[in-house]
Amino acid sequence: MKPMYINGKFTNGHATEEIQVQNPATEEIIDSVPRGKPEDIEEAVQAAKSAFDAWRKMGSNERASLLHEVASKVHEHKEKIVHLLTLEEGKPVAENEEEVEWVINTFRYYAELGRHHRGSVLTSGEHSQFNFIIKEPYGVVGCIVPWNYPLLLLAWKVAPALAAGNTVVIKPSEMTPLTALYLAEHCFNHLPAGVLNVVTGYGHETGEPLVKHAEVPVIAFTGSLATGQKIAAIGAPMMKKLHLELGGKDATVIAEDADPEIAAKAVAYAALLNAGQVCTSTERVYVPRRGAAKFTEAIVEHVKSLRIGPGTDSATDMGPMIGDVYRAKFEKHIEDAKFNGAKILFGGGRPKHLSKGFFHEPTVLSNVDHSMVIMREETFGPAVPIMEYTTFDEAIKLTNDCMFGLGAVLISNDPKKIKQFFDDVKAGTIWINDPLTDNYAGPFGGMKYSGGARELGEVGLDEFREVKHVHWDFNMEDKPYWYPYGQ
Ligand code: NAD
Repeated sequence: MKPMYINGKFTNGHATEEIQVQNPATEEIIDSVPRGKPEDIEEAVQAAKSAFDAWRKMGSNERASLLHEVASKVHEHKEKIVHLLTLEEGKPVAENEEEVEWVINTFRYYAELGRHHRGSVLTSGEHSQFNFIIKEPYGVVGCIVPWNYPLLLLAWKVAPALAAGNTVVIKPSEMTPLTALYLAEHCFNHLPAGVLNVVTGYGHETGEPLVKHAEVPVIAFTGSLATGQKIAAIGAPMMKKLHLELGGKDATVIAEDADPEIAAKAVAYAALLNAGQVCTSTERVYVPRRGAAKFTEAIVEHVKSLRIGPGTDSATDMGPMIGDVYRAKFEKHIEDAKFNGAKILFGGGRPKHLSKGFFHEPTVLSNVDHSMVIMREETFGPAVPIMEYTTFDEAIKLTNDCMFGLGAVLISNDPKKIKQFFDDVKAGTIWINDPLTDNYAGPFGGMKYSGGARELGEVGLDEFREVKHVHWDFNMEDKPYWYPYGQ
C-alpha cells in the first residue's frame, strides 16, 4: 500500500481500509492506497494552514526555484511516471509522455509567471495619494482531481496555486492516486512540510470534507457536472472561491471546403484520444449533406486502421476505458442511438481479441439527431456520431444546442465561416483545424454548464489570487469632505 503525504510525512493516517487500484487494460490490481477519512483531511488542512504564512512570504525567486525544481524532478523521473500513468489510467504511452511533458512545462511556466508581478499601480484621485492593487494568495486551496488526466489536471491547479503563494491539499481520484503519490515522494519532497499534501480516498469521505472545511477558502475542482453541482451547493453559501471545470459535449463542424481525408483524421483524433475520455473530446460531428458520403467513408477507413490494446504496447493507438461503470454508460448511449434509428458504420461492440480489460471498439454512427442521448449528454467514450446539416447557420445552431460550452472545433479555411464560428459559438476554446491543442499561455475552461473557471495563462494564476486595493494618502490632515457638513 502506498501511503498518503501529509505535513511532509508519509502516513496511512486514520485509514482502516485500503482502496485497490486496478489496471484498466488487464483488470489486475496494481497497488492500493489508504481509504482516507475526514480526520486525514483535517490534519492536511491544518498542516497547509501552518505552512501558509512562511510560503506566502517567501521571496519570489526562492519560490520560483522550488517550482522549477519540481519540473526538473518530474523530468528526471519521466520514464517511471509515464509507466505508472499508463498502468493506472490506461491510455497509450505516447499520450502519457505528452501528459508528463505538460506537467513539467506547467510548473516551469508558473514558476516564472509567479515572480513577474503581484499587482499594479493605479492613477490616484489626488497628487498626495497613492493607489495600488495587490494580488495575494487566498490560503489553503483544495485541489480535487479526476482520473482522465490525473497529473496534467493536478499540475494546472497546483502549479499556479503554489506560484501565487497558496498552500494545497490534493485529493486525487480514487481510481488514479498512484501517480500523485509518486510525485509527492519524488518530485514535491523538497517543498517545506505542509505546503503540499495528498490525501487519498473516496469523494464523499475526503473530497466533501475538504469542500466543507471552513479553513479552505478555495476549491479547485475538475470532474463531472453532478459532483460540481454538489460542491457548488456546499461551497457557495460559504462564499468560497469555486473554480469548477466540469463536463463537455464538444462539437466538430466540418465546413464544405474541408478536405474529407484531413477532416476524418482530425475528427478521429479529437473523438478517440484517450478512448474519448477527454473533457474536450469531440462528441458530436456535423458534416455538410453534400460532402457527407466522402467524409464518412474516409473516417470509417481511418478508424478501421487504428490498433486497440493496452497502453503499454507501443503499437497501440487506443487503450481501454477506465472502468466497467464508464463502459456500461457508453454502451447505453450506443444502444439508445441504435434503438432510435442510428446506423452503426463501424464498431459497436467490445473487441474480440481482448478478453480482459475495459476496452470498447471505436464506434462510428450516422443517422443521429438531437433527440438521442448520444447527442445531448456527455458520453465520455470512443464514439463518433455524425449528423448532416444543410447550411452553415444550421451547423452553428446545432453546435450551440447544448447545455455545455467547453470547446468547439471547425475544419475549414474559409475566413468568413471561421469568423462566424468563433463569433457565434458559445464555448471556452475554439479550435480551427487543430483540435484539442492547448497552449500554456491560452486560458482553458468552459461556458454554460461546463463551469466558468479558467486554467493556464495569466488568468489561470489570477484564479488563485484575491485582489486588494490600497488607497494611501501621504497627508495625515483634516479633509474638506469630512464632518461636519455645511461649513
Ligand atoms: P467525478 O466528478 O466523478 O470525480 C472527480 C473527483 O471528485 C474525484 O477525485 C472524486 O473522488 C471527487 N469527488 C466525487 N464526489 C465528490 C464529492 N461529493 N465531493 C467532493 N469530491 C468528490 O469525475 P471523474 O469521473 O473522475 O472525471 C470525469 C469527468 O471530469 C467528466 O465529466 C469530464 O468531462 C470531467 N473533466 C472536465 C475537465 C475540464 O477541464 N472541464 C477536464 C477533465 C475531465
